[in-house]
Order: sequence, then C-alpha cells, then structure tokens
Amino acid sequence: MLQTQASLSILVESPPLVSYGLPKDSTGALLNGIFRFAVHAPFVFAKEFRLELMSDIRTKRPIKSDCLKCISRKSILYAWNFLPLTTPSRLKMAQGAHDYPFSCLMPGNLAASTDSSLASIEYRLVGTFVPTKGSPIVVSEPITLSRAIIPGNDRIFQRVFPPTPVTARIVIPNTLHPLFRVEMKLTITGLAEEVSTWKLRKIIWRIEELSTVFSPPCPSHSRAASASGVLSEDERTIGSGEIRKGWKPSNNNTYVLETEISTMGDISCDVESSAGISVSHRLIIEAYVLEVKNATGFTGNARILRMQCSIIITNPSGMGIPWDMEIPPT
Ligand SMILES: [Zn+2]
Repeated sequence: MLQTQASLSILVESPPLVSYGLPKDSTGALLNGIFRFAVHAPFVFAKEFRLELMSDIRTKRPIKSDCLKCISRKSILYAWNFLPLTTPSRLKMAQGAHDYPFSCLMPGNLAASTDSSLASIEYRLVGTFVPTKGSPIVVSEPITLSRAIIPGNDRIFQRVFPPTPVTARIVIPNTLHPLFRVEMKLTITGLAEEVSTWKLRKIIWRIEELSTVFSPPCPSHSRAASASGVLSEDERTIGSGEIRKGWKPSNNNTYVLETEISTMGDISCDVESSAGISVSHRLIIEAYVLEVKNATGFTGNARILRMQCSIIITNPSGMGIPWDMEIPPT
C-alpha cells in the first residue's frame, strides 16, 4: 500500500517509564498511549492490524559474530489485535483518523533498558497494518524503561576480621546513580591489642562493575555450538581513590573517616534479566595498618583489612512515585 493512502503513528501518553524499587518489590510501570491509523484514501481494507510491545535482547559476545539471530533475540511482550474477531479476514476502514487507545503494565521484575559492555536490552512498540492489497505499513517507537530506588535510610555494612578483634562499619546513601559523588563514613575499631596497636596508614577504595551475559546459539547454529550457550563476564573499575590522611582517631582504638567516593566514565545501572544479562556493582575498601608495639614502636608487621559490599546503582527517581501510590483523580 502506498503511504499516501494511509499512515500509522504511535503517541505515548504515559510519563517516563520507571519501575520503582528492586525487581522483587516493584509494582512496575504503566505504559499507555494512542495508536493512530489515518486513512487518506476513501477507504482501505485491513487484513492484519496490530500493535506489539517487543523486547530485543542483544549480546555483544555472540556464538557466531556475523549471525544476526545469534546476536539478537526478539520477543513479543504484549500484543493488541485491532481486527474484530468476528471479521478476521478483512476490515473496511473509511477515510479519516482512527484512534486506538492502548495500555499495559510493564511488570516490576522486567529488566530496565540497558546498554552494558556485554549486552543490551531494548523495548519497542511496533504497529503493523497489512492491507488486503499492497505492502504493509509498519511504525516503530522506542520505549525506555528505567529502574529507580526511592531515597531512604543510609545503608550500613558491618565487617569483622577474625581472628582479630577489628571491626569496620561503612555507611553510604541507599541510592546511587551512574555518575555519583557521595559521602562515605568508615569507622574501624578494635585496633588496640594488649601489647600492640595497629596504626592506620592508608585506605584504598574502588568501585567495580561486573557485567555478565549468557549467549545462546540461534537454532541454525545450535548444532555447531558445544554447549547450550556461552557465559561471558567483564569486570572494570569505575571509580577509585587512595587516602593517606584525614581520618580522626577518636581514641587509640578507633578511626573515623568521612570521605567522598565517586564514579566516572560509562556506567551501566544494575540489572538482572531472566534472559541471562546482569550488571552489578561492588565497593571494595582496603585499609592498610601497621603494628606498633606499645613498648618498642613499629614492628614492620602490616595487615590489609579488605572489605567488600555490594552496592546498587539505578537511575535517579526524580519527583516520580510508583503508579499504585498515585491518588486517582476525583
Ligand atoms: Zn546464529
């Protein structure tokens, strides 16, 4: 069919799609809009007329690098069929604009749109009109789904270092965004022992991003592949620092450090997809301490207190609230 005879358009009316909370807790995001079919000719006959919400999962480590089907897996998440079931073969549509409202809930455990170092997750609305005569009309609209954590109480991590009596406490905000710069409070206690004391000399911190993707072969390459798929991992540092001073020894036994930690570069938000794609982050802190004998001074003995906490990086929540907490209009 000539585009001059009819045209399709998709108007998304919902605000930016944000799933609030962790996948296990989130109530998801509501997508709604208008699917418009404008007939410019006196009338046209429809054989197929539908709108689909599609996901496109792409690996950057495919089993066959030149095979699009090994790279991309497309799925239909939601479909609206606008042909009445009573007239499945064809539908006469007169000149003018025909509007079809659509809506659906993107579930809270659906992975957010992602472009990590190993994989991408994209969503798209695809509208298709197939006339009884002529070629189909297709329209496509990208949909971005984000995840956000609503700011709340700080997160507290406690670490112990057996067999020593040393303990560490790390306090950071509960919401971290890709390019964050936040205050971290680190408290180390238990450094004074009976005959010696451990002096804090330096602290090294870094934030690591771990991406994974499981890449299955497409049906035509499954026989050649040795396994059901390949798991790829990529680990990189997205922020780091070294601190040699600035902590407050509140007494001989305890050090308190308040410092800024931040990230830089190209950072992906946390994601965990049932399609085999994940991105996670962790904060690693190494505290270097030297032993001082109370009677004779430095002994040359050193220890590295290494601690690791998993942190969650999401998009900022902005002023939004989950759809199920909105007050309905009266
Ligand atoms: Zn293939």
